[in-house]
Amino acid sequence: MAGNKKGILERLAEGVVIGDGGYVFALEKRGYVKAGPWTPEATVEHPEAVSQLTREFLRAGADVLQAFTFYASDDKLENRGNMAYNKYTGSAINEAACQIVKRVAAEGDALTLGGLSQTPSYLSGLGKEAVQAEFKKQVQVFVKHDLDFVLCEYFEHVEEIEWAIEACKQFGKPVAATMCIGPHGDLHGVSAGQCAVRMARAGADIVGLNCHFDPFVTLDTIKVMKAALQDEGLDRHLMTQPLGLHTPDAGRQGFIDLPEFPFALEPRICTRWDMQKYAREAFEAGVRYIGGCCGFEPYHIRAVAEELAPERGRLPAASDKHDMWAQGLKMHTKPWVRARASRTYWEQLKPASGRPYSACMARPDGWGVTAGHETLKQHAKVTSEDEQNKALEFLKNENEK
Ligand SMILES: [Zn+2]
Repeated sequence: MAGNKKGILERLAEGVVIGDGGYVFALEKRGYVKAGPWTPEATVEHPEAVSQLTREFLRAGADVLQAFTFYASDDKLENRGNMAYNKYTGSAINEAACQIVKRVAAEGDALTLGGLSQTPSYLSGLGKEAVQAEFKKQVQVFVKHDLDFVLCEYFEHVEEIEWAIEACKQFGKPVAATMCIGPHGDLHGVSAGQCAVRMARAGADIVGLNCHFDPFVTLDTIKVMKAALQDEGLDRHLMTQPLGLHTPDAGRQGFIDLPEFPFALEPRICTRWDMQKYAREAFEAGVRYIGGCCGFEPYHIRAVAEELAPERGRLPAASDKHDMWAQGLKMHTKPWVRARASRTYWEQLKPASGRPYSACMARPDGWGVTAGHETLKQHAKVTSEDEQNKALEFLKNENEK
């Protein structure tokens, strides 16, 4: 019964909650999202594609389904020649997203979540009032559709996420807050620990990290955040939704700085066994909201759910086609593949990349400026050739520093 569903804070107090994976990246690969703007107009254009991916996360064990509202602020939908705003507006995209997620969540016992993220208005220095106006337009739609709680995610400046949390708190729903930062802290040099403290003080009920870094870098960072919260006597639930990609070589802005971003990251994809390791280590570190972001596909979420099956007392529906620790391979025709039906084999395996001239690490772009810098001012018109050349020259100089 939907009316008797336990809320997110109740579920977190009782045990572990599994989030879903990355919609933007998965739907880009499937042909429904454009890399560059990364906006979610697929909710209007291809609702069946969004529904299907949402359903796959539910089947994989997600306890929370996130409405596909990433970057659906009006200022982002019209940024740099993106035509989405002219066709639909943020409200129309968010309305469709809420309808989809409510419908799919009703197929199981999942909670629904509305997310908002960083804005071009902040990068351009338009100030608190203009930025919060973008957030409020989005949250109003989530509240109208009675989504269970709100997530401020993918912020790289603690000041902007404080504004987002403050704007969300007015609506009376639980608020989760995750920044896309790593061990270096935010882009204005605020430490990861201090970011956690400021998110908690701004009113976030759940504090953590998403995107930009791999599961293990993210866990190193959440431990720093946990210690800082404890030092300040702040008791908050912890949440991690990292990349489904390995990024040990990433710089301050995570995978955005890697030369392979966003079209050649495939050799970095985490295996399902990496995700079981992530789920166990996150649980042991005290994280109780464990999900994923870009690169995290439904089978990765299934791996998290399988690892945490002892704690949750159940396996997800998708495990009907996946026996734990490769046991299904016992049915294989080839004896050397049958021999791989063991936990030890897959836990000890070091997968090869299959790319003879490929390095195992890349050199990240050095990009030493952030919000407030001239090169990061945004506008609605298409990026010009002159701007493109300036960006290339700027990057060359930055990388030579
Ligand atoms: Zn992401």
